Amino acid sequence: MRVDCHVHIDCTYLGGLIYGGDKTDLAAMAKEFKLNRMMVSSAKAIMYDFVEGNTDTLRLMKDLPDRVWGYCVLQPRFGELALKEFDRCVVQGGMKGVKLYPVLPLWAADEASIEPMMEKIARARVPSLIHPTPVEPFFKLADRFPDAPLILAHMGGGGGLQGLVGPIHEAKKHDNVYLDTATSHFDANAIEEAVRVVGADRVLYGSDFPLLEPAAQMAKVSSAKIKEEDRRLVLGENMNRLVKGRKV
Ligand SMILES: [Zn+2]
Repeated sequence: MRVDCHVHIDCTYLGGLIYGGDKTDLAAMAKEFKLNRMMVSSAKAIMYDFVEGNTDTLRLMKDLPDRVWGYCVLQPRFGELALKEFDRCVVQGGMKGVKLYPVLPLWAADEASIEPMMEKIARARVPSLIHPTPVEPFFKLADRFPDAPLILAHMGGGGGLQGLVGPIHEAKKHDNVYLDTATSHFDANAIEEAVRVVGADRVLYGSDFPLLEPAAQMAKVSSAKIKEEDRRLVLGENMNRLVKGRKV
């Protein structure tokens, strides 16, 4: 079972792109990298209107039912609307995860508005992919909601934010934290170090397609000097286990 835990649609909302990231691009990427599933969130939902963007993701799930598992993007400052959106997309709509982008001025991972939303997510054991800017509030969130599986996007670094070594070692202290391998920096031994420190069962392959080049992201994992059984966990068995563990 091969799963990419970090894929987007509607990427014109994030700018600077070579691919548009429509269903044709995603289907071709899945075929090229032999992915059984892609976990997809809408950049429109992240940057502009989360209800409209999530509706795009629901449509994509219908268009590519054998390839796409949706992430529901939530914006906690919308209060009741965010809670209803979780019900619409995850409980009724069949999305498998939640994507959170707690970057100021949108919102911050440790602010009070997130409480009711995170309680709902934790109760349902739904995995959440969370952008790490910065990482400190993310780890506070992991402590406050130990039942919620939280995926630290970009292994806590990448994108020029900060190094990977600190977040990898911090992740080890939090049993509910998982590391997404999609990074725009290619630090030597990053995958080996993540597997060695937090364990192969908490590292998840992600490409951040179409923002990052999937061939490069896949090469990091396929060439990593780790056991074949660990590579299988990273390339999809872990994400599949998280999805199967939901109580929705
Ligand atoms: Zn992303």
